[in-house]
Amino acid sequence: MDKIAAEFVQNFMANVIAKDPLEKEFHQAVREVVESLAPFVVQNPVYMKARILERMAEPERIVMFRVPWLNDRGEVEINRGYRIQMSSAIGPYKGGLRFHASVNLSILKFLAYEQVLKNSLTTLPMGGGKGGSDFNPKGKSDNEVMRFCQSFMTELSRHIGPDTDVPAGDIGVGGREIGFMYGQLKRLSNAFTGTLTGKGLGWGGSPLRPEATGYGTTYFAQEMLSTIGEEIAGKTVVISGSGNVSQYAVEKVTQLGGKVVTLSDSNGFIYDPEGINEEKLEYVLELKNVWRGRIREYVNEFKGAKYFENQRPWSVPCQIAMPCATQNEVDEEDAKTLVANGCRVISEGANMPSTPEAIHVFQGNKLFYAPGKAANAGGVATSGLEMSQNSMRLTWTRDEVDARLHRIMKGIHETCVQYGKESDGYVNYVKGANIGGFLKVANAMLAQGLV
Ligand code: NDP
Repeated sequence: MDKIAAEFVQNFMANVIAKDPLEKEFHQAVREVVESLAPFVVQNPVYMKARILERMAEPERIVMFRVPWLNDRGEVEINRGYRIQMSSAIGPYKGGLRFHASVNLSILKFLAYEQVLKNSLTTLPMGGGKGGSDFNPKGKSDNEVMRFCQSFMTELSRHIGPDTDVPAGDIGVGGREIGFMYGQLKRLSNAFTGTLTGKGLGWGGSPLRPEATGYGTTYFAQEMLSTIGEEIAGKTVVISGSGNVSQYAVEKVTQLGGKVVTLSDSNGFIYDPEGINEEKLEYVLELKNVWRGRIREYVNEFKGAKYFENQRPWSVPCQIAMPCATQNEVDEEDAKTLVANGCRVISEGANMPSTPEAIHVFQGNKLFYAPGKAANAGGVATSGLEMSQNSMRLTWTRDEVDARLHRIMKGIHETCVQYGKESDGYVNYVKGANIGGFLKVANAMLAQGLV
């Protein structure tokens, strides 16, 4: 980076940090983007003059609200709800809702900021947003989750709509929660609209939406490998998490002939050297989605597997790693271990799972490293396809949606190569995704004036 660009980054970050000094996840996400865009923006002063990057780091609107609800003992509980409406430059705000005890403004702002570029990369007309609550669904009864969702939606419903803001799921928000929230939204608005995505197949949902993020992240790994004439078949794959994204990453990797040997949750990971095949995945789906159990229970069922308490799976040798749990789950030491053990491809299903130091290790060793905003965009892309189907009042087939998802992931890969290829031929997917995602949003902002 030249001196002018470096100074730009320094001043930019100083301002962002001064405004919200405690929002470290937000700073991390903004810094990664601004560092890769600064040389480009410095060379294209039209974006500098209009202060596009500065405007993109300021949400168009933030809504914060109280969510009171009654637990099963009849006691009053109070959580905090949020919706960050980050950018509507290229379409209605679009992005998931996260229910997790760790949720705060910093985490949701980083997710909303990333979402703007990700949604642009899909080529679909979607702006960016994110929301959620510090509500922890773990250990709550279905009735408690329903009462919480109804209270949450009672307020959120004032701020969303099919042409305004279309939320979806994320950590802690799956089919059950979307169902409860959609029911309440419909009751309040007296309208059956496409205002939430991730709906059930029989009531407005799209085929393949539950599978889309995990499938898309796998397709992206496949695209990266295809640039050197290789494929997923025959490779060992380490996956973290055991939720929605991880489950369908396992399914697609296995279908393509790869062997997934790990899954995890916030308590530890399981290692199954024989691979998590279709039958074992069936068990995981039931364990996590029906019984809402913990991943350690896997080893009671499959005796060849081992459970490692309070550890992450990155020490297990593999050629491909897919972090699919949460932010900052791969640190510098983990990255060095992965490289030393022969890992060559990282495809991120989670958002910002690698720390900046870990990314530095991956790129320094010339790994194929795909950041979440490119590799996990298949989820929101399929939500975009759900919006299209809702507007047309029809449902495409599973094959049709899969073909579109596959095309979109290929397109995102091409965009990353177009803007991220360096002089030695190495593809910097971070730079490619950031420039590729930025251009469409920035040009729309220029065209729409100072709003
Ligand atoms: P789920 O709630 O279905 O699963 C989350 C998984 O990650 C669980 O196994 C959970 O374990 C684990 N996890 C969560 N927090 C932590 C933590 N602090 N430390 C260790 N493990 C943790 O969520 P999703 O699968 O939907 O989301 C996973 C990631 O993918 C997130 O980063 C999300 O933003 C991203 N993503 C999701 C999309 C989607 O379509 N769902 C789209 C694009 C990105 P535990 O049960 O112990 O909490």
